[in-house]
Amino acid sequence: MKALTIVGGGWAGLAVAVRATQQGWRVRLLEAAPQLGGRARRIQHQGLALDNGQHILIGAYRDTLALMRTLGLKPEELLLRLPMNMQTAQGQGLRLPCWPPPLNLCWGVATASGWSLADKWGLVKRCAAWQLAGFGCDAQASVADLCQGLTPRVMTDLIEPLCVSALNTPCHQASGQVFLQVLQDALLSGQGSSDMLLPRVDLSRLLPDAALAWLQAHGAEVLLGHRVSELRTLMHQPVMLACPSWEAAALTQDLAPTWSSHAAALQHTAITTVYLRTQQALTWPAPMCALASGLDAPAQFAFDKGRMSGLPDMQGVIAMVVSASTASRDDTSQAVLQQAASQLALHDLELLATVVEKRATFACTPGLQRPSLQVMPGVWACGDYVAGRYPATLEGAVQSGFAAVAALALASHG
Ligand SMILES: Cc1cc2nc3c(=O)[nH]c(=O)nc-3n(C[C@H](O)[C@H](O)[C@H](O)COP(=O)(O)OP(=O)(O)OC[C@H]3O[C@@H](n4cnc5c(N)ncnc54)[C@H](O)[C@@H]3O)c2cc1C
Repeated sequence: MKALTIVGGGWAGLAVAVRATQQGWRVRLLEAAPQLGGRARRIQHQGLALDNGQHILIGAYRDTLALMRTLGLKPEELLLRLPMNMQTAQGQGLRLPCWPPPLNLCWGVATASGWSLADKWGLVKRCAAWQLAGFGCDAQASVADLCQGLTPRVMTDLIEPLCVSALNTPCHQASGQVFLQVLQDALLSGQGSSDMLLPRVDLSRLLPDAALAWLQAHGAEVLLGHRVSELRTLMHQPVMLACPSWEAAALTQDLAPTWSSHAAALQHTAITTVYLRTQQALTWPAPMCALASGLDAPAQFAFDKGRMSGLPDMQGVIAMVVSASTASRDDTSQAVLQQAASQLALHDLELLATVVEKRATFACTPGLQRPSLQVMPGVWACGDYVAGRYPATLEGAVQSGFAAVAALALASHG
């Protein structure tokens, strides 16, 4: 039996471990942390199962959904599926109906509440132009360049929140090309692809817990709390680096200096999730709502965790998400508390926890060349930062894991 060592048990490493086991590899997965999941995992706080950051999936995440099914999980039970909804708690903004594309987009734009004819017509014309151009653009164009001429309303209600939540990079710094690719997949790759999938359970239950059980049942070896600090001793068999870019860069510094410096050059942006609790009833139109965000009001979205999970102890718990966050933990917490009070009309708010992930994702900037999956003979890399179609997302991580196993299989047959 061929043996494979995987360094890191985030969603990319788990995708590799499961796919390689299915293909007959004897897998050994080494994970530094005491639990699997990496940047998408459960954290316990005062008896509540929270996450290291609120996540959202979309219907276009086909590989992630397929991986869940392989593990015996039922995405339709674990994820709350809603048509794309960028409306505020007061019902302003864009909401798509449950129809096939592009009818859903046309109707959503035509009926967007609070938008003028100029807002709607400008967006429709621009989407048509993007489609005519095959959703391609100059590699050096930012999202702001791409959207020049769209009305301020469309920018603040749709483009800016969409861009910062998908790419975790503000519009003027974000890659127009990657943004268009995400839009194309989300809006036009079949019915339901733009749907928002909100986790009903914590992130570990969404995949890593089941992956651990599946791997152990299929004979794979999973070592938790096992940090790899030296690669050479592992290289008597193929190695898959599924740790984040900065760790992979450090591990390969002497062995593959060019690849290593490429990985080390990636810049990162933070995401902060502020968990609040209220005794007031939440009456938003949907379990998730968009917020008007700016310097003093940093959160872009709020999530009603009680409504999403249906659990008694989560009633009144709200996750406020600040993508591309830059301020300190305390300043962000205070600003978000005030924002929730004013925009969500909540006056008895308790701050439960603030989770700052400083290197949540790589900064997805125009023209960025991402590291390749082949590091050197016998060593591959996978993860959300490795060259691929998606920005740093769960789907990007899983797709990269699957692609790395395909490359490994090719090399082992050749
Ligand atoms: C707060 C936050 C919110 C996010 N929101 C979304 C969202 O809404 N939707 C979405 O799709 N994506 C979102 N993302 C992005 C998504 O979580 C990541 O893209 C994805 O989890 C990356 O997975 P990965 O396997 O590539 O890397 P990681 O999750 O970083 O996994 C790497 C693993 O390697 C381990 N490791 C590191 N060094 C070593 C070593 N030396 N030896 C052994 N093990 C090691 C780490 O402990 C870790 O478990 C968010 C991320 C964050 C942080």
